[in-house]
Amino acid sequence: MNRPIRTPQELAQAGYIGAGEVDDVARVAERYAIAISPAVAAMIDPTDPDDPIARQFVPSAAELVTTALERDDPIGDLTHSPVEGIVHRYPDRVLLKAVHVCPVYCRFCFRREMVGPQGLGTLTPEALDKAIAYIAAHEEIWEVILTGGDPLVLSPRRLGEMMQKLAQIEHLKIVRFHTRVPAVEPERIDDALISALNACGKTVYVALHANHPRELNAATRAACARLIDAGIAMISQTVLLKGINNDPDVLAELMRGFVEMRIRPYYLHHPDLAPGTSHFRVSIEEGQKLVAGLRGRISGLCQPVYILDIPGGHGKAEIRPSSIEPRGDGCFTVRDFRGGEHRYPPEG
Ligand code: SF4
Repeated sequence: MNRPIRTPQELAQAGYIGAGEVDDVARVAERYAIAISPAVAAMIDPTDPDDPIARQFVPSAAELVTTALERDDPIGDLTHSPVEGIVHRYPDRVLLKAVHVCPVYCRFCFRREMVGPQGLGTLTPEALDKAIAYIAAHEEIWEVILTGGDPLVLSPRRLGEMMQKLAQIEHLKIVRFHTRVPAVEPERIDDALISALNACGKTVYVALHANHPRELNAATRAACARLIDAGIAMISQTVLLKGINNDPDVLAELMRGFVEMRIRPYYLHHPDLAPGTSHFRVSIEEGQKLVAGLRGRISGLCQPVYILDIPGGHGKAEIRPSSIEPRGDGCFTVRDFRGGEHRYPPEG
């Protein structure tokens, strides 16, 4: 199929769900968007019931279970939205959510109540101008982070227009895009899109969201190389997900893959309390153990920052286990990557 798979019937035809699952998945589809792009379909092994790519994108009846802890706006975007399309949580940066559409819909999405055909849609030109005017009026804003939805679904023409408006804001220095496009629709990363990204004359970062090393295939690597060769810096973001990457070998291969592609590993997100996603969540303790296990095992260049978005909109907190503790005598106990403990400073 050379267009995205979007319906329960198409999922069944592709062999991603059984005929007996169509009714449950139709109930899921009433609430949450579905899309599997051709590039993602090509990564899925339909004969593997535990395929880590399929698990990320193929809906299941487990999404019909919402637990008491889960909430529609798990990271509190709405609490910090002074004008439509802007989230201003930290003093020196804002999110600009110009679009709430994605080329694929991740089953664990933290904004699943906002994205998709029934979501918040795309900002009107007037709303976008108001959002950009907000950035222009706040001189403390050093960085704008385009997220959504996936901002790289916008046409190069619309992206270029937006970037030219951002170019006029003197105090704005960094424009960052959060996207899955280089992995899930790599054909979009062409000369026109790259020219649009570079149209603002600011320093541009692209954060690639990828969760499994199989997403870093030849097409993804070529798309990222096009961006980086054009002067765009890249960082990564990954969500820690049960049954997909809660495995030290998988995480190590993924982080090494990013570095090999000249992408600096950045965030490893603890999964948010989005509705219908409890089947993806690992415990904080498991996440800390996995992250601690990466120390020593892979290069320092490959270490992501393990973070939790505090529910309610209180921002991000690093939750990596500490390797140093005070002893109470003015000295510290430091743990090495093998678990050995050492006094610091050492006895003289
Ligand atoms: S691409 Fe991002 S915003 Fe879109 S469904 Fe996936 S996690 Fe959500």
